[in-house]
Amino acid sequence: MTIHQTLQNDFAQALAEESPSRLRFDEPMDRHTSFRIGGPADAFFEPDSIRAVEQALRFCKNRQISCTIVGNGSNLLVSDQGIRGLVLAVGDSLSGIERQGDVLLVMAGTRLSALAAFAARQELTGLEFASGIPGTLGGAIQMNAGAYDGCMQDVVRQTDFVDEDLACRQINGEEHQFAYRHSAFSERSAVILRARLELNPGSYGAITAKMNDLAERRRQSQPLEWPSAGSVFKRPPGFYAGKLISDCQLKGYSIGDAQVSEKHAGFIVNRGAATARDVLRLIEHIQMVVSDKTGVWLEPEIKCIGDWTA
Ligand SMILES: Cc1cc2nc3c(=O)[nH]c(=O)nc-3n(C[C@H](O)[C@H](O)[C@H](O)COP(=O)(O)OP(=O)(O)OC[C@H]3O[C@@H](n4cnc5c(N)ncnc54)[C@H](O)[C@@H]3O)c2cc1C
Repeated sequence: MTIHQTLQNDFAQALAEESPSRLRFDEPMDRHTSFRIGGPADAFFEPDSIRAVEQALRFCKNRQISCTIVGNGSNLLVSDQGIRGLVLAVGDSLSGIERQGDVLLVMAGTRLSALAAFAARQELTGLEFASGIPGTLGGAIQMNAGAYDGCMQDVVRQTDFVDEDLACRQINGEEHQFAYRHSAFSERSAVILRARLELNPGSYGAITAKMNDLAERRRQSQPLEWPSAGSVFKRPPGFYAGKLISDCQLKGYSIGDAQVSEKHAGFIVNRGAATARDVLRLIEHIQMVVSDKTGVWLEPEIKCIGDWTA
């Protein structure tokens, strides 16, 4: 039996009580990435409980089927061949926020925009930086996402997750090993379930004014009118990736429909029908040109996932 058949027959049975709408086969991943790029996932599952996460992970482990964890797909380049095995999408169906004093207990699938808006309504400050980042809490902790003057490290105090041995575990404070676009989850395939965020009392007016200001700065500087995955490269120490790319005259440079944004050279945009291969070739071209002209090697911030064998 192929992996595909195993998933179709057995996984559907194993999760028989799940709603069919949360378990789909041959699901086009371009529907689930902000790049609007990506071939089909053999199976795509959106768990709505921690138990469903555990069941899916156990199924994959027992059958030795690969399991790829995604959030809102806003930092991903999924291959044109798609993803073999199961995609476990921790998103809207695993979201929710509870307030306890100045602390928020937040499920991993909660979108940062909804979380920041909730904090503002509750007059809690500390999440303004996150309001324009189009990811989930899980994806943001994994990446230590940040913008302007803040990052997840500033607010995340405790995280619950399922580890590779299917044990539910918890880490606190420095155990997160937060660094620039890095956390203790960066090099592993644990599934973040929920986190405890510590904020400070603030005023609704000041919080929303700051969020509006940051949103305006994004609109001015980022090509939000085109599909993208945000900044493609990490900031190299002492430089800005966008400026290096722009100084190398690469603004507007295209391969197929993948283009270095005219507005912000740190972004690659999909001008319509870009393939993952186009984007990857453009990334490699940028790396070579910038390295030749400046001596700086740009490391991708976006994650390339899926089946790249072709
Ligand atoms: C227009 C635009 C602007 C952006 N601006 C910013 C910005 O200012 N700052 C910034 O840091 N990023 C930015 N990004 C990138 C992106 O939004 C962030 O990296 C975000 O944190 C990714 O979250 P996600 O849920 O979309 O994760 P995905 O892209 O789905 O996944 C990213 C990584 O997180 C892992 N992951 C996701 N959920 C979980 C989970 N529950 N448990 C374990 N691992 C998980 C995935 O396996 C993958 O490795 C931007 C993107 C776009 C499109």
